[in-house]
Amino acid sequence: MLKIGVIGCGAIGKEHIRRLMHLIPEAQVVACADYFYEAAQKTAELYGITHVFKTGEELIDCPEVEAIVITSSDASHAQYVLPAVKAGKQVFCEKPLAQSAADCEEIIREEVKHGQRLVQVGFMRRYDPGYAEMKRIIDSGELGEPLMIHACHRNVSQGEGFQTEMGITNVAIHELDICRWLLNDEYKNAQVLKVKQSALSNKGYDNPQIVLLETMNGSRIDVEVQVADGYGYDIQCQVVCEKGTLNLPDPASVVKRSCASSSFPIMTDWAQRFISAYDIELKDWVLNVLNGAPKGPSAWDGYAACVAADVLNQSRGTEQFLPVSMMDKPELYK
Ligand code: NAP
Repeated sequence: MLKIGVIGCGAIGKEHIRRLMHLIPEAQVVACADYFYEAAQKTAELYGITHVFKTGEELIDCPEVEAIVITSSDASHAQYVLPAVKAGKQVFCEKPLAQSAADCEEIIREEVKHGQRLVQVGFMRRYDPGYAEMKRIIDSGELGEPLMIHACHRNVSQGEGFQTEMGITNVAIHELDICRWLLNDEYKNAQVLKVKQSALSNKGYDNPQIVLLETMNGSRIDVEVQVADGYGYDIQCQVVCEKGTLNLPDPASVVKRSCASSSFPIMTDWAQRFISAYDIELKDWVLNVLNGAPKGPSAWDGYAACVAADVLNQSRGTEQFLPVSMMDKPELYK
């Protein structure tokens, strides 16, 4: 049994606690924390969680907590991953690992010092059956070399406080991970472009933006990032290979044929769209941690995505590709 503490009892924190408590018999949430203490208390009552804290630091120090799940806001992730690693505790951190590559480097240095993997990043798309099958086919070589990826990430809307840069660090960070994973490649150059703006983008942030990437092996990637499309949570990905193309399937749903048209529903939020991916991801993390170490996306993967995100945000307005440069990869991640 893995005794877990969860920092952040908001939307995904509560979802992950439900998963850990109801779907994974090998896991038990023994502590939770949230700045908004009432949220932590209510969650604890709902799931019979023993220890309730206001800060993540108190939760990390709790002797009964063996492993930590971080589901607080983006800006707080590094502040909790670092002390958790210093304490030698296993950490599952929702994406992004940090707000900058520099913060990820500090985490990597600490993990390397520990000499064993302690961190997994919540890049759950790697566990999505659609992406996993695309990866299997690419790796089999059956379609030859992958040449290009055309992808798009569309959200219905954003809450107060959303900023242009978050279109990269909070939203497109998923594509920055999944594309390098699908291609088994690293980024060479990156550029973000502001294109013709949607009438739905009147809240002070760019919408849409287009992310352009070149990889070390010469593949090209374009990602349309719309953070307010007004119609659905729509994730698309097409990999163009030498001998064929691969398209990410939409989630299975009934196709309705009526009134001279054929249609199927498009989901509106991440929680439903990737529900099976989150289930598989957390189960995989718990079982591997119980067996010694996590095997999913590492601190290095979190770092690689943040390096590209930093470069993309630096490139905004320059109309230029900027080089993506990474630290040497420590043995731990090879
Ligand atoms: P949310 O509903 O706003 O929940 C975040 C919770 O964390 C809030 O209750 C917030 O309290 C609390 N919090 C903020 N800073 C804190 C701190 N320093 N210490 C303790 N608690 C703190 O957000 P969410 O949608 O659940 O997202 C949480 C994280 O998961 C984000 O990093 C997000 O990017 C990530 N996420 C990932 C996916 C995915 O697809 N993998 C999907 C959704 C979210 P206050 O309200 O008082 O600030």
